[in-house]
Amino acid sequence: MSWKQLVVIAALAAAPLAAQNGAAHHAPKPPKSLRLYIFDCGVLKPADAKSFGFDHVAELKMSVPCFLVAHPKGTMMWDVGVVPDSDFKADGAPVVQGFIEVAKPLKPQLEALGYEPSDIKYLAFSHYHIDHTANANMFAGSTWLVAQAERDIMFSDKPAPVRTEKNFAALKNSKTKILPATADYDVFGDGTVIIKQTPGHTPGHQVLFLKLPKTGPVLVAGDLYHYNEERNTDHVPNFEYNKEQSLASRAKIEEFLKTSGAQLWIEHDYAANAKLKKSPEFYE
Ligand SMILES: [Zn+2]
Repeated sequence: MSWKQLVVIAALAAAPLAAQNGAAHHAPKPPKSLRLYIFDCGVLKPADAKSFGFDHVAELKMSVPCFLVAHPKGTMMWDVGVVPDSDFKADGAPVVQGFIEVAKPLKPQLEALGYEPSDIKYLAFSHYHIDHTANANMFAGSTWLVAQAERDIMFSDKPAPVRTEKNFAALKNSKTKILPATADYDVFGDGTVIIKQTPGHTPGHQVLFLKLPKTGPVLVAGDLYHYNEERNTDHVPNFEYNKEQSLASRAKIEEFLKTSGAQLWIEHDYAANAKLKKSPEFYE
């Protein structure tokens, strides 16, 4: 059989599937080295910073970024927004819900890079709060990376603060990798994408350490801090799950920043986030 015949046979075999799904989709080629894309997933505009223990902060607004980690061995979403894409109306106008404002849905931002949610191998978020998990159901087909304590409070019958269960309900049946409660988790096995447990803000809060080949080491800190003003203080939000755990996690990470030389990226730090490159640009 010639290679041309083989091509014809392969095309015939693939045709019904392609017809079923419309145009065949091919995920982008994996990058040669680690990349980090940052999406705009909205802004929070709290009236004051009192619930974070401050009468005054330099910038009240909070950014809500979503992140796509593209590794030669696969992809991972980290934090998936504050408003589900389904809340957008057909006209695509920005969504305003109280102190939440979101200009762009998440999926089109992924698609602009050529990725569909089904191309995402792993889903992880810093913690379950509404402003980090709004589009979790979109990634129910990914392998979910989560601490047991976090998964437990997400699906607990007891009330939990800042929890919108419908937004992540589909994860209940996702393929799930329970991460070790204290040890680091090396997502791709080469030390470049590490999830570190930092409980306190929530029972299984975690942060993301990336070794980017050109940018250098970066720590994406979830809500270990919300405002830069919280650093070197004992101020934690008044809805903290466990203040002592939070302060211990912060101390551990501050020490890690020194030994690793990593930059600290506070996700909600509006001024710092505004300076970061946004997708389709990326860090490498
Ligand atoms: Zn948050």
